[in-house]
Amino acid sequence: MTTPKFKKFNIEAYKPGKSKIKKLKKIVKLSANESALGMSPKAIKIISNKKLNLERYPDGKSDILRKEISKKYKCNSDKIICGAGSDEVIQMICQLFLKPKDEVVVPQYSFLMYRIYTKIVGAKVIFAKEVKLKVSSAEILKKVNKKTKIVFLANPNNPTGTANSADEILDFVNSLPSHVIFCLDEAYAEYLEDPPDLRPLIRDGKKIIAMRTFSKIHGLAGLRIGYAYGDKDMIELLQKARQPFNANSIAQTCAIAALNDNSWVEQCRKRNLTGLKQMSAGLKILNLKKNIF
Ligand SMILES: *Cc1c(COP(=O)(O)O)cnc(C)c1O
Repeated sequence: MTTPKFKKFNIEAYKPGKSKIKKLKKIVKLSANESALGMSPKAIKIISNKKLNLERYPDGKSDILRKEISKKYKCNSDKIICGAGSDEVIQMICQLFLKPKDEVVVPQYSFLMYRIYTKIVGAKVIFAKEVKLKVSSAEILKKVNKKTKIVFLANPNNPTGTANSADEILDFVNSLPSHVIFCLDEAYAEYLEDPPDLRPLIRDGKKIIAMRTFSKIHGLAGLRIGYAYGDKDMIELLQKARQPFNANSIAQTCAIAALNDNSWVEQCRKRNLTGLKQMSAGLKILNLKKNIF
């Protein structure tokens, strides 16, 4: 009797941050960077509505949400795709644009899902060193060659928390050879004073996709909703490859409310900044910085 043979890969599954600790009732969870302040009150209002109509499939293209994102960030909605978290978009990018043996360059300390999805399709993960825990464009460029298909990086980065300036990111994109797709993960872009503006480069035809999420500053991690914007042709292909109803209807509606709740986002940003200062001061007292470098 024959048994089915499974694809073999050397992959360590993503380990989510712990959310329970035995015997402890009150814990402060920091491991997954979820919002400390919770959901926007506008999203809470939608979820609390008892008349939600869930017997219908959601809008497969997330048209209204894409239009709202387009309005807010002045980016044509043809260049936007929504997903069940930005994780799903990262998965679709790897599924669609990578062939076995292609190379994907990622910073040494980076979000694990880039590696996992790359390996699933049989492509190869190449690590670029970081300098003082900061993404180094020079080190990434050293690893880019003819076989490189995608460079993934997050700015600010997870798990290091460091960020590159807008100019550093834009110079880096301009120095990438044209056969390489640049994927910028902007899960924490809202926390930056001056995030890089990739839209002119996308307009010029650079092969760029940037991912954003409602899981972090917008506080909707449990709903699974995120999006990407970028090169129109690549977004069009992703639209064809996605599941027909990949973003659920409550997630789409809440994301629209959260996106437009500027005062809530501003409060979260301010609170985070205060926490950042407090944490940095505490770590300095513990002399941890010296121990890391
Ligand atoms: C949290 C996080 C994501 C995942 O976001 P989802 O939209 O919840 O899938 C993606 N990239 C980075 C760097 C993150 O920290």
